[in-house]
Amino acid sequence: MSELNMDKIVSLAKRRGFVYPGSEIYGGLANTWDYGPLGVELLNNIKDSWRRKFIKERPENIELDSAILLNSKVWEASGHVGNFSDPLMDCKKCKSRIRADKHIEDWNEKNSTKLFPQKWAGEFTPSKDLFEFITSNKILCSKCGANDWTEPKAFNLMFKTEQGVIEGEGALIYLRPETAQGIFINFKNIQTTSRKKIPFGICQIGKSFRNEITPGNFIFRTREFEQMEMEFFCKPGTELEWFVFWKNFTYNWFLNIGINSENLRMRDHEKDELAFYSNATTDVEYRYPFGWGELCGIASRTDYDLKQHINLSGKDLSYFDESQKEKFVPFVIEPSLGVQRTALVILCDAYNEEIIGENDTRIVLKLHPALAPFKVAVLPLAKKLSEESYKLYMALLKEFGWNIDFDDVGSIGKRYRRHDEIGTPYCITFDFDSLEDKSVTVRDRDSMNQERIKIENLNNYLKDKFRF
Ligand code: ATP
Repeated sequence: MSELNMDKIVSLAKRRGFVYPGSEIYGGLANTWDYGPLGVELLNNIKDSWRRKFIKERPENIELDSAILLNSKVWEASGHVGNFSDPLMDCKKCKSRIRADKHIEDWNEKNSTKLFPQKWAGEFTPSKDLFEFITSNKILCSKCGANDWTEPKAFNLMFKTEQGVIEGEGALIYLRPETAQGIFINFKNIQTTSRKKIPFGICQIGKSFRNEITPGNFIFRTREFEQMEMEFFCKPGTELEWFVFWKNFTYNWFLNIGINSENLRMRDHEKDELAFYSNATTDVEYRYPFGWGELCGIASRTDYDLKQHINLSGKDLSYFDESQKEKFVPFVIEPSLGVQRTALVILCDAYNEEIIGENDTRIVLKLHPALAPFKVAVLPLAKKLSEESYKLYMALLKEFGWNIDFDDVGSIGKRYRRHDEIGTPYCITFDFDSLEDKSVTVRDRDSMNQERIKIENLNNYLKDKFRF
């Protein structure tokens, strides 16, 4: 296959109705994206799969949907008001603005170096040290090559707004930058109402907002995105075993939804890279067209968050273990990932260009069938067959409740190609013989093999094809 670049993904996404640039008719709004009919299906299928693996198939886990707007004290307790900032530097020569930590990472990736500031601790605060580190190691501006920087400034990533009807007099509140804190503040509610015993996990899918300094790479880093997070509460001392368990579980889920293991890697954080409250963290990284980058983070967060909320709220968020008659503040393992970032990975990983014959190229999205926006397409060979085949289409809709396409416009070859490009695993062709032999042709997206199947056997034939 020819080299995959982001332009090909962006162009297919727009052309076929996965992702459009946001506010396009008004000239756009930088780094915002709208998800079209196929994009919504893809995102929903990703969320369904995560929900199924992390919640439905795990009896110990449950789900929450907490508010986006929370009391600002939550963000004081979590450390986001004080520390959730990125170190921002400007190139004095070309005026481009960078995130100092990412700039070092990108430099390392590009130059196969391992430059690493000593005081790096996850969300570290910008300091003169960082400035000196970049300048003395000659980590140059990637736009103009200069080594002439402003000193780093801390830039808080939380979006601020006001709650209340009188402008200027309302209470300052924030759009949540992660879904996790909604889980921590509901720990006691959930534990007591659901009578869960430790260990158990609370999962949440929802929007988060970060005023990123360097958004970009299509939907990789945006200011508005959805997260799928779980906080798994366990007994202190058992957390590292659970950390390994959820790390492998998460990684296997990525393999399960069809991501090629050659494009995935796990990167354990070094001791001096760990956030101060974490005793183990691993990133799952993917090989994007622009290089390796984070897909998902799995962190052992100790009892930091619950303790912070206990201290600031004055409420008892500890757990009483009936069997051992002991009280403790649970430790927490958190797998956290973005829905749209996962969608980008899925699109990049599934994208294939196949050379067919002399000068023909077939673009095919080899999506896991369960993630495909259309599971099946019903295609009458000729317009005259539309009425009969439409009946079959309606019957399939009723039987499966899937998103199924019906398309009777254009040549059959063109219709196959359109469905290859959007990843439809099976095309069902209804031809003139179908009227007589009550059979249809089922074409497989990847092999392009065609099979004749009796219509009465079609439901059974399709039923087993979409499992994880
Ligand atoms: P980065 O270092 O890339 O900014 P992070 O380490 O701050 O990310 P986390 O806070 O660990 O990210 O967030 C967990 C997950 O949420 C990430 O692995 C990613 O999948 C997703 N995510 C975070 N920020 C964004 C964003 N701005 N746009 C899209 N997805 C995001």
